[in-house]
Amino acid sequence: MKYDCLIIGAGPAGIFTAVEMLRKGSKKKILMVEKGVSVEKRRCPKAKTKECVNCKPFCHITTGFSGAGAFSDGKLSLSYEVGGDLPTLIGAEKAQETINYTDKIYLEFGADPHVEGLGQEQKVKEIRRRAIKAGLKLVDCPIRHLGTEKAQKIYYDLQEYLLNSGVEIWFSTICKDIIIENGACIGAVFEDSKGGNERTVYASDVVVATGRKGAEWLEKECEKHNILHQPGTVDIGVRVEVRNEILEEVNEVLYESKLIGYPLPFKNKVRTFCQNPGGFVSQENYDNNLAVVNGHSYKDLKSNNTNLAILVSHNFTYPFNQPIEYAQKVGELTNMLANGKILVQRYGDILDGKRTWEKELSQSNVKPTIPDAVAGDITAAMPYRAMTNIINFIKAMDYVVPGFASSETLLYSPELKFYSNRVKMDENLTTSIKGLYCLGDSSGWTRGLMMASAMGVLMGRRLSEKE
Ligand SMILES: Cc1cc2nc3c(=O)[nH]c(=O)nc-3n(C[C@H](O)[C@H](O)[C@H](O)COP(=O)(O)OP(=O)(O)OC[C@H]3O[C@@H](n4cnc5c(N)ncnc54)[C@H](O)[C@@H]3O)c2cc1C
Repeated sequence: MKYDCLIIGAGPAGIFTAVEMLRKGSKKKILMVEKGVSVEKRRCPKAKTKECVNCKPFCHITTGFSGAGAFSDGKLSLSYEVGGDLPTLIGAEKAQETINYTDKIYLEFGADPHVEGLGQEQKVKEIRRRAIKAGLKLVDCPIRHLGTEKAQKIYYDLQEYLLNSGVEIWFSTICKDIIIENGACIGAVFEDSKGGNERTVYASDVVVATGRKGAEWLEKECEKHNILHQPGTVDIGVRVEVRNEILEEVNEVLYESKLIGYPLPFKNKVRTFCQNPGGFVSQENYDNNLAVVNGHSYKDLKSNNTNLAILVSHNFTYPFNQPIEYAQKVGELTNMLANGKILVQRYGDILDGKRTWEKELSQSNVKPTIPDAVAGDITAAMPYRAMTNIINFIKAMDYVVPGFASSETLLYSPELKFYSNRVKMDENLTTSIKGLYCLGDSSGWTRGLMMASAMGVLMGRRLSEKE
């Protein structure tokens, strides 16, 4: 089987590569291969079962057409300062231009024209003033909120657009290995997602866009085939949940507060991430059975709570430089304490040095939006350095958002973000292997919907130019 362009992974990065190639009038024969199913067939059984049943052979939240985007909150961060390190590769100006362009495609496919975080400059100034006092940096980032339901509709329309335009898509098919011969990538080997039916595909250009869940696999491929790469950063943290009343002002003015700090004594980078006003905390399962916490919000269905992640960046040098493994161990230990579920503890109990009991959760104003989270002791699994960073960051946040450091504030763990294994490439997205391109979250250069989509757009342009 021979194609001009083979795209492995149908997440936003892969999708926008194909979309931009079509928009540029490319006549190339494109094949997309996706481990999961088409977007309209994706179902998370948790809506019925109320608890994660750990779907096999893959989790529908992260796998299938539109990747981790389908069940995401669908918050498009419209600033180059948010969503990854692509700007350090291609420059801030080009990154912003590409984001603006990509945003227009989302609008064409039905995204809400309203943008959160614009037009309230005086109120933003007041929040920033408090942030400065607390030693935190407030990053301005307008947000286009698709909402989970709308995101699925937009990605469905994109899927149909690709199919109707002649892009071939193989679903339920997993890439086992890429083929490198004489220093060039010439194709890849696939099998059905349940195993068996091995197939080899040859292509002039091979784009790997396998997302966060495919990052570990890609790292192994880099090792195996000598694709230049370097260990990146891993984020370990907690998901915090408070009543909407606490974050009301920030939700209303900014929708999402992007705050960054370097709290004492370690001065590591700590930041807020993925804020979901009226949202729900959720569990996500990795293929290796690791259960991690996440959060999302719907456009219409609202809870009484707001959740956000507080993440501590971790880098390693010598003699240990395996950040993914490190974070996994933290996750496994936490999962063990919660019997494979998500662990939840009240902030006040952490300060008091005690675990949280189930009955204590019901005494608070804030009720967990993830019903099967297990009350317990996060500090029994969280490394001291990360825990201290989180506690001190929450104290600083309390200046910006009074009540944030309340004793009833809920902390869920493990919240892990694997951005590791950064594939080495230049500003034209050229890797060390001819014909091989690595995009999106699995490349280590992005960590958000918009940045991954924008990187796809750049890739699409590059591959169209080659005709
Ligand atoms: C619950 C949740 C909520 C989120 N909310 C937001 C948000 O509101 N805003 C935001 O900016 N970001 C959010 N994110 C992050 C965002 O979804 C990702 O950054 C983005 O989807 C990355 O795009 P990608 O194309 O690089 O990878 P992905 O979207 O992960 O897609 C990769 C695809 O590759 C497939 N794949 C993996 N390995 C293989 C293989 N070996 N063979 C074939 N196919 C393979 C996967 O099945 C997947 O479909 C959220 C993520 C989650 C999980």
